[in-house]
Amino acid sequence: MHLYGTQNVTENGHLTIGQVDAIELTKTYGTPLFVYDTALFRERAQGFINTFKNAGVQAQVAYASKAFSSVAIYQLAAEEGLSVDVVSGGELYTALKAGFPSERIHFHGNNKSYDELILAFDSKIGCIVIDNFDEIVALKQLSEARQQKMHVLIRVTPGVEAHTHDFITTGQADSKFGFDLNNGQADRAFTLLQNHAYLDLQGMHCHIGSQIFDTAAFSLAAKKISDKMGEWYKESGFISQVLNLGGGFGIRYTEEDTPLQPAVYVDDMIKAVQQEMAAFSMPMPEIWIEPGRSLVGDAGTTLYTVGSQKEVPNTRNYLAVDGGMSDNIRPALYDAKYEAVIANKMNDQLVSTYTIAGKLCESGDKLIEDIKLPKAESGDILAVFCTGAYGYSMASNYNRIPRPAVVFAEKGAHQLVVKRESYEDLVKLDLPLTIGKEVNR
Ligand SMILES: *Cc1c(COP(=O)(O)O)cnc(C)c1O
Repeated sequence: MHLYGTQNVTENGHLTIGQVDAIELTKTYGTPLFVYDTALFRERAQGFINTFKNAGVQAQVAYASKAFSSVAIYQLAAEEGLSVDVVSGGELYTALKAGFPSERIHFHGNNKSYDELILAFDSKIGCIVIDNFDEIVALKQLSEARQQKMHVLIRVTPGVEAHTHDFITTGQADSKFGFDLNNGQADRAFTLLQNHAYLDLQGMHCHIGSQIFDTAAFSLAAKKISDKMGEWYKESGFISQVLNLGGGFGIRYTEEDTPLQPAVYVDDMIKAVQQEMAAFSMPMPEIWIEPGRSLVGDAGTTLYTVGSQKEVPNTRNYLAVDGGMSDNIRPALYDAKYEAVIANKMNDQLVSTYTIAGKLCESGDKLIEDIKLPKAESGDILAVFCTGAYGYSMASNYNRIPRPAVVFAEKGAHQLVVKRESYEDLVKLDLPLTIGKEVNR
């Protein structure tokens, strides 16, 4: 059994997270329940930040908050000295509500609305990452009309596409994101933005994929973009202040995953950029990265209550829990794999094999196939590990299932950070029928 972060086991066989008994948490807050090990989040954040510090490289480590966005996580990110990325007005609003320093907020998205851009300008965020030519037009108009400066980066697709254990180099011209680095689009964007009175071009951004384990993919992307920076420097004297290499650092979901320490990813990146800058006799830019999953993924655990079981003779035993694809759509959406334990039977032998089913009306609503567990009974607490990224943030109310509560646990203390949805919450946006009634004719 692999435990994450501060997780441990008590003498009576209970899982603990942040030195808090998981079973006690379920008694206090109910299930399903997301529990975050905030000490692990802090450790990861400092791991990234310190690697840059030790290398003497100016950097911003921005938490990609689409992985889990809530007021408390933005406040935790602020406390740890992180910047944040947002990809929508809703995430930006949440970060601002949390009191996150606006100069450390970066705004992404391939179709930012006018209202979203206005909110970004009004709140004087640190940087807008420009995705396409329409956005250049919109931003020029807006910044000129408001006579307001804004730092911008150009998002480029460097032709390196990485997935888990391998990566491919492609033209990547069919990505929905960014300007192609190889077909002239990035150069055109550069020409359009250079020397603008209000849009202050800081450099380039790329994000080559997710759940990546191979540092060579990041280094190659860094090299390709650095080459472009060198080209622009030679042709026009433009010095890039920032090179943002995105997120995508892999974590361990199951024993098949072999993640590296933050320092390893970052060190290789830094070396690649240093080499290129030396070759062009250019000053080192600030390096920015955007970890999402690797900050919150394995810091999060979901606790469910076990309910009914169904035996399909000679095939499988279904063990149903009180949540499912409404709080974790990744198995259904990406065939994502997870490990789990029975949190009140941590010292019991693994004698049974189960398929963990959710309670939603979809045959595909299965969280884990064929996992070995102790013999399970109704009322047991199933802990699914590594659900902190893209779990709650992708949660839905399918079947009118209320979304779970979220709790932070650290050093023996625990705190509710997102309330459980109530049935009242579920109908709070609904309005009663009036159309077609006699009175309206
Ligand atoms: C999703 C995303 C990230 C974070 O990716 P992780 O795999 O969660 O680290 C970073 N930057 C951008 C632009 C993204 O879209």
